[in-house]
Amino acid sequence: MKPLSKAAAIPVGAAFLTGVTGQDGSYLAESLLSRGWEVHGLVRHQLLPGAHGDGETAVEGVEYHVGDLSRPDEVGSILESVKPDLIFNLGGISSVYQSWQHPYDTALVSGASVVAMLETTWQLQQATGKEIRFLQASSAELFGEAESAPQNETTPIRPISPYGAAKALAHHAVSVYRGRGMFASSAILYNHESVRRPAKFVTRKITSAAAAIAAGKLDRLSLGNMNAIRDWGWAPDFVDAMDRIIHAVEPDDFVVATGVSHSVQDFVAAAFKAAGIDDWRAVVDVDESLARPTDAAEMRGDIAKISSKLGWRPSVGFDALVTAMVRHDQTILAGESAQS
Ligand code: GDP
Repeated sequence: MKPLSKAAAIPVGAAFLTGVTGQDGSYLAESLLSRGWEVHGLVRHQLLPGAHGDGETAVEGVEYHVGDLSRPDEVGSILESVKPDLIFNLGGISSVYQSWQHPYDTALVSGASVVAMLETTWQLQQATGKEIRFLQASSAELFGEAESAPQNETTPIRPISPYGAAKALAHHAVSVYRGRGMFASSAILYNHESVRRPAKFVTRKITSAAAAIAAGKLDRLSLGNMNAIRDWGWAPDFVDAMDRIIHAVEPDDFVVATGVSHSVQDFVAAAFKAAGIDDWRAVVDVDESLARPTDAAEMRGDIAKISSKLGWRPSVGFDALVTAMVRHDQTILAGESAQS
């Protein structure tokens, strides 16, 4: 059999993750630990054992380090003590909506901090002579209002939100350091969801409301722009893609998406149907105050490059994703009812 040439043979070592308690960080930490990696994670505050809140998942076996992404000195000294083989930068302000409320903080923690981390990584690599691989969780928001869909790695970078602008700085910085000789890659991630998605994102907001309305525990759901079209994938699939990108033979940028898009309204219809409600229009309102100053009409990624070069394909489609999230929210509600 021909040997698999898509992945480099990297011995198991130490990985450092920012955003480690988030959706992607927690799935990635579990995956790396199960394969024998030592996993270090950056957290803003000391984690309570077993913490499992909205948007924060603690994983047993991870060594957590308290530090702030906006303080390069703190992150730098943690990196110097951990001396990782791999760095996954998944942290920062993850919500486009929040970036409109905190544009400066977004620029700092999702943009400038990445430049600082790349420089620290480069210096550390120079000092120790040991390669450190860097994976940036980049975003489809780079493309803003793209002229066509699907978008690929050559689509012009033209962000239309503070989040996209900060991610664009980080994305460019990754290619600058790659040009300098570092193994630095970007995963251009489209929206990706799971049962660990916090309710500030539209998918979880919809599935938790659909479950609650069906159970008679909530009356109505208010949403902003229901016409937005997004390419929603399954977060564990996307974590697998990031892992393949950092283990590839060469550093590079890859779009990570499903290639299939749906409107927010399609998501609503599918979620309410899964919860047993056919007439979702009777319980869903549009609230203009939830719409954003600018919002790309359609985001859909072209996965030809990652499929052909790294053999990656998504394993979970739209209907399965929506149903899994609704079922999870129904299970949580059933647990709450049993306790009360
Ligand atoms: P984002 O793509 O990272 O901003 O992920 P979101 O899940 O927050 O938003 C996805 C899309 O849903 C965007 O086009 C939003 O404008 C749209 N949307 C419509 N109503 C809402 C809402 O009530 N909350 C959020 N978060 N998004 C909404």
